[in-house]
Amino acid sequence: MAGQLIPIDEARSHVLERCSALIAVAADSLPGRFPASVSGAVLAGDVISAEDVPPFANSAVDGYAVRVIDVSEASGANPVALRVTGEIAAGSGASCVVQGGCAVRIMTGAPTPTGADAVVMVEDTAFGGDKSILDGSQSVSVTKSARVGDGIRGVGDDVCRGDVVFTAGTAITPAVAAVLASVNARTTLVHPRPRVAVLSTGDELVDDGSELAPGQIRESNRTMLVGLVNESGAIAIDHGIVRDDEKLLESVLRRAANECDAIVTSGGVSMGDYDVVKAVLSRIADMRWMQIAIKPAKPFAFGLLTNDHRRAVPVFGLPGNPVSSLVSFELLARPALRRMAGHREAAWDRPLVTAIADQPLARRRDGKVHYQRVVARFAADGRVHVESVRAQASHQLAATALANGIAVVPDGDGVPAGGEVSTILLVT
Ligand code: AMP
Ligand code: MG
Repeated sequence: MAGQLIPIDEARSHVLERCSALIAVAADSLPGRFPASVSGAVLAGDVISAEDVPPFANSAVDGYAVRVIDVSEASGANPVALRVTGEIAAGSGASCVVQGGCAVRIMTGAPTPTGADAVVMVEDTAFGGDKSILDGSQSVSVTKSARVGDGIRGVGDDVCRGDVVFTAGTAITPAVAAVLASVNARTTLVHPRPRVAVLSTGDELVDDGSELAPGQIRESNRTMLVGLVNESGAIAIDHGIVRDDEKLLESVLRRAANECDAIVTSGGVSMGDYDVVKAVLSRIADMRWMQIAIKPAKPFAFGLLTNDHRRAVPVFGLPGNPVSSLVSFELLARPALRRMAGHREAAWDRPLVTAIADQPLARRRDGKVHYQRVVARFAADGRVHVESVRAQASHQLAATALANGIAVVPDGDGVPAGGEVSTILLVT
């Protein structure tokens, strides 16, 4: 079942080759209402706008729509009086004309009236009359000259009809979702966010706050993994703690495979003793049980579980030791989930930088790559500097919890103080 140690790159390729982007659907078929429904999804096709944004020329300021020729000589010392013949609010569809020697009061976003070729902002005018009278008997003093187009936002200034606004693979951030709304891209194709079942296995685990019986520990990995799955952009579905019971585990896994796009388990994948997770997954899924040449997170399992709809659902079997679970998720599950989400390859991984070790990152030669958890910071020299969180054992999550980086220390004698070390930054 378990072979010799394999390089991390081999494990990663094995996993990534078997995880592909979820089938694309129309944006407006996602649960919820467009455009909020597409936030966090990834574009599966280019978005070509069918509309101009803005759809009509409109005022960029609150002020007065004027003819430039009337105000070309205006200044504070030489104000120009124009008769106010109308008012246009945002949302107004009324047509209106600015005649020579006249001005129309206008609000930001209101369509600019015919005849006007600039809008003078209210700060560059003075009006002492009655704002409700719009028959031309009231006048406004313009104290600044204007050039053609001043204060006006033209049709298509932001997006022109026919423009490729975004290309396939673009992550739909809140701002991208807003642009999709602005061009009404309801039928654009998107990869839905993967739904990921998260479950913990082990008879020793409790999560109900009760007094610990001998041999019991408090369950903690699920909270972390649910958070990490959500942070990766996928949607975690908590499947709870599953007891070491073959029938129960099989039914939870089968249900998860029917309802979700991927499954993340924690516990029960180590070498050695017989384990329920191994027994069940080996029987119902096409699994590869790996021993990876890394520390922590040496044991790892990956496979495909075919569900009732004949869909092969990826299963990530993470080790139970909390720090191993985290590192395993970061190195193997996260990039695969990002691939399933439809992200471009450059966005599968966290950023990797070459950092300076402020203190030695000690290790012994053992044929493995060590992933040491560090605190990383930008220093005055413009470089990222790292310091070990110290407690580096795979059960010491408290120290790792404060890390914001993982230093990749290759096999050898470690990194001396001042030496360079590749560091994964735990930021998105
Ligand atoms: P395993 O991978 O199941 O052999 O577990 C390795 C170690 O991690 C054991 O000490 C377990 O008790 C512990 N462990 C397993 N699952 C969890 C969990 N969900 N939360 C906290 N500790 C766990
Ligand atoms: Mg266990």
